[in-house]
Amino acid sequence: MSAGAFSRAVVVGAGTMGSGIAQVFAAAGIDVTVCDVAVAQHERALAGIQRSLDRLVQRGTLAAEARDATLGRVSFATDVGSAEGADVLVEAIVEQVEAKQALFRAASRVAPEETILASNTSSISITTLAAAATRPERVVGMHFFNPVPVMSLVEVVRGHLTDNDTVGRTVALAERLGKSPVVVNDFPGFVSNRILLPMLNEAFFALMEGVAEKEAIDRVMKLGMNHPMGPLELADFIGLDVCLDIMEVLHRDLGDDKYRPCPLLRRLVAAGRLGRKTGAGVYEYGQ
Ligand code: NAD
Repeated sequence: MSAGAFSRAVVVGAGTMGSGIAQVFAAAGIDVTVCDVAVAQHERALAGIQRSLDRLVQRGTLAAEARDATLGRVSFATDVGSAEGADVLVEAIVEQVEAKQALFRAASRVAPEETILASNTSSISITTLAAAATRPERVVGMHFFNPVPVMSLVEVVRGHLTDNDTVGRTVALAERLGKSPVVVNDFPGFVSNRILLPMLNEAFFALMEGVAEKEAIDRVMKLGMNHPMGPLELADFIGLDVCLDIMEVLHRDLGDDKYRPCPLLRRLVAAGRLGRKTGAGVYEYGQ
């Protein structure tokens, strides 16, 4: 099957990532069913996609008819039974092994043999998720970045049993979505989070040890390294709980103390200062 043969997709999870992933599928002419257990998320996702497409129309980069056609390709469901007849399923549900494994078990029962079962996980082993599927060779990582319609990278993660045909089709699919795929192997944090998160964690150590004030740490990395955001600002944007979870995975699965989460990061998470989403993290954001 070539990438052009993808005509029906299922995206499971209608949160931040799932709605963005659904948008790029629909924009590429692929019918997409977004499946979420929480019905309230259906409306929120549809509104988010609509807003995002409206902005493109206002900017003059998308015709109104193309926006309507894209929206027309998005539908919603609560049950993974909608995976029947899908060419590809991408899951973007909660970052929990048991929940994702249960989903792959259920999807294996309904999806056709050739369906690609992809996970957007940030840190969970693709090989571990594939162990729950009846066709582990069809399971692959498709790691998108936030905001999905804007960010060009897709890390395509090859699990221990993922076959070449699945990797090739996933790469072709990502290209059809207008993305730039990079194939990596299944190691904790893949490439992106293996390198990014220890840098963010180190910024917390620098802050905790009084190397500099938070604004100074961010300024050094922005002005000196040309990073668009400083590491502490970026950690607030990602969510400090998410950063901590990923550091825990790196620490546990690589077994090296160089990945130990900074105690200050742990303390902020324990205090409920999770970053922008809670109005305060390293910085204050008000309401
Ligand atoms: P989110 O909390 O915004 O959305 C998760 C959605 O999944 C919710 O709407 C929830 O109702 C739904 N859900 C939970 N369990 C379900 C199930 N069993 N079946 C169907 N729906 C279910 O989360 P998010 O930020 O979109 O992250 C989703 C995934 O993407 C995670 O694995 C995360 O690690 C990964 N990821 C997130 C980012 C990011 O920046 N947020 C970036 C890359 C990857």
